Amino acid sequence: MAQITAIRGMNDILPTQTPVWQYLENTVKNLLASYGYAEIRMPIVENTSLFKRSIGEVTDIVEKEMYTFEDRNGDSLTLRPEGTASCVRACEEHSLIANAAQQRLWYAGPMFRHERPQKGRYRQFHQIGVETFGMQGPDIDAELIIMTHQLWCALGIRNAVTLQINTLANAESRQQYKDALVAYLSQHTDKLDEDSQRRLHTNPLRILDSKDQNTQALLNDAPAFDAYIDAESREHFARLRALLDASGVTYEVNPRLVRGLDYYGKTVFEWVTSELGSQGTVCAGGRYDGLVEQLGGKPTPAVGFAMGVERLILLLETLNAIPAHVLQSVDVFMAVAGNVEINAITLANALRVKVPGLRLLMNCGQGSFKSQMKKADKCGAAFALILGENEAEQGVVAIKHLRGDAEQITLPQNEVAAWLMTNLDKK
Ligand code: ATP
Ligand code: MG
Repeated sequence: MAQITAIRGMNDILPTQTPVWQYLENTVKNLLASYGYAEIRMPIVENTSLFKRSIGEVTDIVEKEMYTFEDRNGDSLTLRPEGTASCVRACEEHSLIANAAQQRLWYAGPMFRHERPQKGRYRQFHQIGVETFGMQGPDIDAELIIMTHQLWCALGIRNAVTLQINTLANAESRQQYKDALVAYLSQHTDKLDEDSQRRLHTNPLRILDSKDQNTQALLNDAPAFDAYIDAESREHFARLRALLDASGVTYEVNPRLVRGLDYYGKTVFEWVTSELGSQGTVCAGGRYDGLVEQLGGKPTPAVGFAMGVERLILLLETLNAIPAHVLQSVDVFMAVAGNVEINAITLANALRVKVPGLRLLMNCGQGSFKSQMKKADKCGAAFALILGENEAEQGVVAIKHLRGDAEQITLPQNEVAAWLMTNLDKK
């Protein structure tokens, strides 16, 4: 029979990889908690209209990347391609913004886009997203950027990423600029790449970040966005830059930085690495003051970002930035020989209760002393507790150091917890 495999572009995350995922997730969670952000969890499936209305009908995502299907009632549903739309929907549905005036939220989970799978680009991928509502000044934009900067520092990857920022101005200025850009590019359509020709009439701003060299050359003589930016957006952007400067967060202003989704205005930013080939953006976001209203709520300023978990993990691996302790999942292995099951289980249970955070793997299913010691070594534990019939009778246990060559010792069982706390550095 043919073997059934996972769907192309959708990956199993194997037990050897999950410690790294947990390390990244926990580092992010702790950081977000330290800034007072609260977690929200949304369903993975939503009404298709939610994404059409928010992301924009003429974006790549809505045009060709969504997993859309009819359910058994004939309703059109979509596996979420991103989290912002769901987050805004949930906030409106539960009056989270109306009741609190301000919200700082985060979520994590799988997203689905039917793209061409390659390194750093998958069909099911994971994002950790942050959305804030009700704050219109550049202080909150700065907070988000400084927070991500601090995350890269905590993860030891700060030197491998650079920050690009831009302002997309208000809707009116953006429209005036779009018109000017279209007028200019329409005279040179033959020099535009195929995607850009299509976007000229649907999503012209996206042409600015075309990867095509001829298109980029053409853009050198195009009208510059800068001349169209309204005074308020200009001032917002200047204050953001001053806040970043004061915080020691370096950045590059990239006037061609636009985002793939329709709803962005004013601040946009991306953290980019050159270590991962063409899938270089590890975190991207910006301001979307119009979206809440667009989805039926009251006008509400909002700004957020999402990071790509797979890309960050690839980066941690590429840079060898994963601390050794992360890959070690067991502290103590308990080897058991002879008829001592009851003593072994009670001792193991007592140790797990008494030593906070202790990760104790007990040998089950017997086996020779030699094979148990092999397992002990392989699981990465620092110590093996050895319990045979002699030890059980005398109420003691032998402790073997698995790393280094310190002498094996024997301790009364009721002293082992204290010994482990000292020697494992767990308080
Ligand atoms: P890209 O330009 O790489 O397609 P995007 O602009 O479509 O990215 P966003 O919608 O802003 O991406 O999503 C935020 C982040 O999620 C990206 O910066 C990236 O790290 C990650 N991401 C987006 N699409 C994928 C994917 N198909 N596979 C893996 N990660 C992804
Ligand atoms: Mg994309």
